[in-house]
Amino acid sequence: MNLKKQKWVYLFQEGSRNMRDLLGGKGAGLAEMSAANLPVPPGFIITTEACNAYDESKGKFPSYMWDQTINALKQMEVETGKGFGDSSNPLLVSVRSGAKVSMPGMMDTVLNLGLNEITVEGIAFISGNRRFAQDSYRRFIQMFGRIVLNIPGDTFEQILDDCKQRNGLWSDTDLTTVHLEEIVQEFLSLVKERTGKDFPQDPLEQLDLAIKAVFGSWNGKRAIDYRNFYKIPHDLGTAVNVVAMVFGNMGNDSGSGVAFTRDPATGNQILYGEFLPNAQGEDVVAGTRTPASIAEMASSMPNQYRELVEIANRLESHYRDAQDMEFTIERGKLYMLQTRVAQRTAQASIKIAVDMANEGLISKEEALQRVDPLQINNLLLPRFDDVAKKEAIKSNNLLTIGLNASPGAASGKAIFDANRAEALALQGTDIILVRPETNPDDVHGMLHAKGVFTARGGATSHAAVVARGLGKPCVAGAEALKIDLRIRKCTIEGHTINEGDEISIDGSTGEVFLGAIDTIEPIISKEKELNILLGWADEIRRLGVWANADDPVATQRALDFGAEGIGLCRTEHMFFEEDRLPWMRQLILAASEATRLEEELQKLQIDASNTNQSSILKEQLTKQENKVAGSEDVKNFHESLRRFLQFQIQDFKEILGIMTGKPVIIRLLDPPLHEFLPKYEELLVDVTTLRLTGGDPSLLAKQEKLLKMIEEMREQNPMLGLRGCRLGILYSAITQMQARAIFTAACELIKEGRDPQPKIMVPLVAHANELRIVRHELELVAQAVQEEQNVTIHYKIGTMIELPRAALTADEIAPHAQFFSFGTNDLTQTTFGISRDDAEEKFLLKYVEQGILPENPFQVLDRAGVGKLMKTSVDLGRKANPGLEIGICGEHGGDPSSIEFCNNINLDYVSSSPFRVPVARLAAAQAVLTSHQLGLDFTDV
Ligand code: ADP
Ligand code: MG
Ligand code: MG
Repeated sequence: MNLKKQKWVYLFQEGSRNMRDLLGGKGAGLAEMSAANLPVPPGFIITTEACNAYDESKGKFPSYMWDQTINALKQMEVETGKGFGDSSNPLLVSVRSGAKVSMPGMMDTVLNLGLNEITVEGIAFISGNRRFAQDSYRRFIQMFGRIVLNIPGDTFEQILDDCKQRNGLWSDTDLTTVHLEEIVQEFLSLVKERTGKDFPQDPLEQLDLAIKAVFGSWNGKRAIDYRNFYKIPHDLGTAVNVVAMVFGNMGNDSGSGVAFTRDPATGNQILYGEFLPNAQGEDVVAGTRTPASIAEMASSMPNQYRELVEIANRLESHYRDAQDMEFTIERGKLYMLQTRVAQRTAQASIKIAVDMANEGLISKEEALQRVDPLQINNLLLPRFDDVAKKEAIKSNNLLTIGLNASPGAASGKAIFDANRAEALALQGTDIILVRPETNPDDVHGMLHAKGVFTARGGATSHAAVVARGLGKPCVAGAEALKIDLRIRKCTIEGHTINEGDEISIDGSTGEVFLGAIDTIEPIISKEKELNILLGWADEIRRLGVWANADDPVATQRALDFGAEGIGLCRTEHMFFEEDRLPWMRQLILAASEATRLEEELQKLQIDASNTNQSSILKEQLTKQENKVAGSEDVKNFHESLRRFLQFQIQDFKEILGIMTGKPVIIRLLDPPLHEFLPKYEELLVDVTTLRLTGGDPSLLAKQEKLLKMIEEMREQNPMLGLRGCRLGILYSAITQMQARAIFTAACELIKEGRDPQPKIMVPLVAHANELRIVRHELELVAQAVQEEQNVTIHYKIGTMIELPRAALTADEIAPHAQFFSFGTNDLTQTTFGISRDDAEEKFLLKYVEQGILPENPFQVLDRAGVGKLMKTSVDLGRKANPGLEIGICGEHGGDPSSIEFCNNINLDYVSSSPFRVPVARLAAAQAVLTSHQLGLDFTDV
């Protein structure tokens, strides 16, 4: 590459559209505004490539970059009629970082660069305002000292405060020119003391150091952490923007402000923002003075307001999206200092997309792509009532703003340890778990808390990751939070909070409040724009969107959210209910012995019917018949089965009834049976205590039997043990009971004129024979029930594909199945050989942090491994059985990236949790739009 020719520096007017990669977001915006003849102060941009070259050479500017910078500076001098370092009419500049994507963690802006002992006099002369000049100089030393020279900001603040105190003054604005001159001298000595060098007086040296500081900040820790979290590549680099200063603090015909082309909170179409007369931009941000609403500018500065409105409209139609603009007015003249796509709440994002499509500014397809599906999730999470929150802010109850680590809002009592949080929550108290940081020992507290609030840790901290997984709000890394665990108190910015005091956290914004704030649970039918957007999504998507629901409440919710079927109804949850668990225990305790006795009897009966009955056989048969008839276990087993039959008929009737006309996939009992029994260790303690204290003998006998049973059932590796269809094959009476319940429920509904569509799903099939056997079993029951009731049911039988062997032999399994559903939770566990419960808390998060795995494969489907098995399975399965219907019911069914993959491998539907149904509807539409844009065509397989 010819380095001399390489262009490292662009004047604003030299930039053009689509140069964001090279010029960064801020630079590209300034260049585009210049090109459109909007009022932008003169300036130039040093490219992101220069930043990368600087990094590669370990801190040296690339050749000719500096020469080009000097040339650009000269051009600025011409345009402004000022001179950089000129004693009579000095040019001052701001130095601003600006990567391609807006990134907190990058260097702060340095204003007023170019000031020194000499130029400060020039500014005083030109402005006719000595105080202004000195104030600008002290601000510059302060900013440069903090940002470029890394001197702690509070050492400067201390000097300021001391001066005010000495002179009995309240605010910065009370400082006179003389005070400011004193402060400047003290600042200069501070710099000398801290750096061992004089404050750089040469403006070019100032510029050189500032540019290096911007470049260096690209690889600062905060910036790297941020990029890791948001998966932003590390080789983008940041640009440096050098902009001629304009002054909003030159009197009452000057000022600074921020404006949004639409309200970023609601999406309403009004110019929204804040304006501070006689102030520099930093004053607006610093919050030392309360800015006025931008609407007030209409009366105080009507001409500038009109110009601003016009510019806002032009920018919005140019960028075809809502913009966030920074501007300054210097002595009546308006300057634009930044424009970028406005950050917005979920609500605003959806409203703006829908409005813009209705206004014809963008197409419906674009509107669909403008909204991040996960934002919909946030919109449907509990949030603080707007009025109540404003009230809380007004009453000074906003304690601090930490990192918005997991969205949603919650109020509760502040509790400082997990055990106490759990205990109180179990008594029905709402808890916010407040910790310095969390680790796996705190998870039980997090599970029971309404929200989590920590002092340390970023967006990938344990607290953040776990809270997001649990769908609970979390504010993390609130540095102001100091917890004293010994005395059970914490302080935040001077407020003391005792354990048990009520606090509120907003995980979507990071705000933490004292006291409780009313929360609202959004109701989807009331979200007008959301429903319009989802309607458009439904027109475009190819995938069906179903939901996982285990009970009538969840089923109804799924339907309300737009689910077209139930993709997974897990029956085991029905066994856990309090009034049923004793029956379940009875069933389990009796199952093995009862099944053994009955099977022996059956064998004898078959033998007896086949051969000429010998008297020995006959005798054996009678003996066995008596054994069965007299067996307590057989009695208990069938009694509990009968109970469950009744329970389950009711359960299925409700769910199938709600979903009338729509498919409901019911999965047969799946988990290992020990899950329904007490924990071995706990029971052991119980029994031992009973023995030692000579407790109730009949209770002791019962508990001892249970203990023995549990002992026998103990497995080294229960997730790979007796569960899934293995259980149903071993204890076929359970399978038959479940089938009878499903078919009976369906018959009863049909007689009531409804249209139940049950589909029975066999879990954990590894070998085609397993499905063949269970299917046969199910069909016998179906036939019997239909005959008894004289009703025809439209049912289907299929299987879950959740083991690699099943995926690889899908062609052998498919002839026995009418549908497949990918159980990607187990499929991910068995493909990786990772037990999720053990891994997520121990090493999986580390793996993700260290980049060993790109994502947590339990959240985002692993396309290369698990995905390949799925694709194989789809291809093999459809070849063997063209009518096979295929969906996914793992948690991935609600994750946008995984949904895209499911679209691409041509599944028929995805099934997610009910709350994720709207997310999935949008994500499924986006998957189609992306595949069209990529020119992919998956639809005709
Ligand atoms: P951020 O990326 O944090 O928004 P900016 O680089 O936009 O930082 O700078 C912050 C603020 O500094 C701007 O909003 C503006 O008010 C002020 N500022 C930056 N450059 C100038 C300038 N050349 N003249 C006047 N004010 C400026
Ligand atoms: Mg800015
Ligand atoms: Mg499973």
